[in-house]
Amino acid sequence: MRAQPKASHFIDGAFIEDKAGEVFDCIYPATGEVIARLHAATPELIEKAVVSAARAQADWAVLKPVERGRVLRRAADLIMARNRELSELETLDTGKPLQETLVADATSGAEALEFFGGIAATINGETINLGGDFAYTKRVPLGVCVGIGAWNYPTQIACWKAAPALACGNAMIFKPSETTPLCALKVAEILHEAGAPAGLFNVVQGMGPVGRALVNHPGVAKVSLTGSVPTGQKVYAAAAAGLRNVTMELGGKSPLIIFDDANLEDAVGGAMLGNFYSSGQVCSNGTRVFVQSGIREAFLKRLVERTRVIRMGDPMDEDVQMGPLVSAAQLEKVQGFVASGKAEGASCLLGGGTPQVQGFEAGYFIEPTVFSGVTDTMTIAREEIFGPVMSVLDFETEDEVVERANATEFGLSAGVFTADLSRAHRVCDRLQAGTLWINTYNLAPVEMPFGGTKMSGVGRENSRAAIAHYTEIKTVYVGMGPVDSPY
Ligand code: NAD
Repeated sequence: MRAQPKASHFIDGAFIEDKAGEVFDCIYPATGEVIARLHAATPELIEKAVVSAARAQADWAVLKPVERGRVLRRAADLIMARNRELSELETLDTGKPLQETLVADATSGAEALEFFGGIAATINGETINLGGDFAYTKRVPLGVCVGIGAWNYPTQIACWKAAPALACGNAMIFKPSETTPLCALKVAEILHEAGAPAGLFNVVQGMGPVGRALVNHPGVAKVSLTGSVPTGQKVYAAAAAGLRNVTMELGGKSPLIIFDDANLEDAVGGAMLGNFYSSGQVCSNGTRVFVQSGIREAFLKRLVERTRVIRMGDPMDEDVQMGPLVSAAQLEKVQGFVASGKAEGASCLLGGGTPQVQGFEAGYFIEPTVFSGVTDTMTIAREEIFGPVMSVLDFETEDEVVERANATEFGLSAGVFTADLSRAHRVCDRLQAGTLWINTYNLAPVEMPFGGTKMSGVGRENSRAAIAHYTEIKTVYVGMGPVDSPY
């Protein structure tokens, strides 16, 4: 098989297999070919992962932070040196075109390791003057953290969780999505090669029940999930039973607002990036594109012209701009949304069908799709599709669009295109979202916090903000005497 790893899991510094675990296949979405066959982790392996992580964490936490940082930075260098090999694996795992994976996946993971490796030695507490007496705080690690990933960015998600967790002195057990199990194993191998002690970053495979077992394990202090809202609700509830810390990076149905005075080419480019990158399988996508009436006709014309020439095809061909969806199930789901858009009266300006991709007829391809005349109550305007389906909605005034943009249970992201900077900031202030963009869309550098509000999540990944989510504060009161006792 084309991408069979040495074994399904990476625990305590080595690949390990337990054939008693349920078998599942990893499929290359461009061809439907089985490229690896793995086993879900058994309870024995889950236990082994927790025990080895706890042991490694105790030693890791007492290292000088600068030494911990050095390991992460070494891992970042190894990832960059192997970017092509890792990108090809990411393409096999997800079906995303190499043109994207070469610049957006392993590279983003490496940047997270480099960033958190760099700030590891700056994670400190404070001293508090109490007039003679004083107190000091320390930022201490939580212990064994669990990371659970979605299938759209397997390398990036593993690194975005591992880098801050490890920099703060925690260990991590990572469970990739069962749809894309391969890339996290490479991250584990590389961290180990860079000097991470055995057990510090373990990868266990499996479906929901393996995730559930990890979340419920008494040896686990924190859970960071990237996934859908329904899964987030279950994981958050399970974590609450053990009062475990959580970070929840969940779904969205984000608004992208284009005012009449926007630069047309930038607005069209931003809307395409925010709907078609990774075949639309991006949580922060701006899938409700609100276009003001004065720019509507010009916007739709350029959107259709530019979307029509998107190159679909063999994801390994670097000229190809769009690959298939991740799985047959996701294709079926997206096709269902396209059908509902048509049935509920939106006009399908472009796409929605199955493209003819020679040699890849069995792949899970769908054409990039643009609906106009979409209204707020249509299913395609309310639910997360996670495919290349853009809904264009019309609006007249700023107040109206802000109210409609906020009328959703989600609150992950939002975007505004306008030449009026006061309006851009004013609208951002009023939009209910965790991560917003002005005159661009979907850029998520490690330096800035990323995450959602409302049903889209809890906590933030990346930037210094992530430190608060992977440490807790220990406070020490220092009495300088004498003790003022009434007895
Ligand atoms: P999913 O919710 O189906 O699965 C996510 C992960 O949770 C998988 O690893 C799965 O095995 C695991 N899981 C399922 N049930 C579980 C349980 N009961 N306990 C513990 N773990 C369990 O999501 P998906 O389909 O893999 O990914 C798509 C979703 O992820 C979309 O909704 C998307 O918006 C979201 N997403 C969010 C972000 C973000 O940063 N906010 C990024 C990428 C994807």
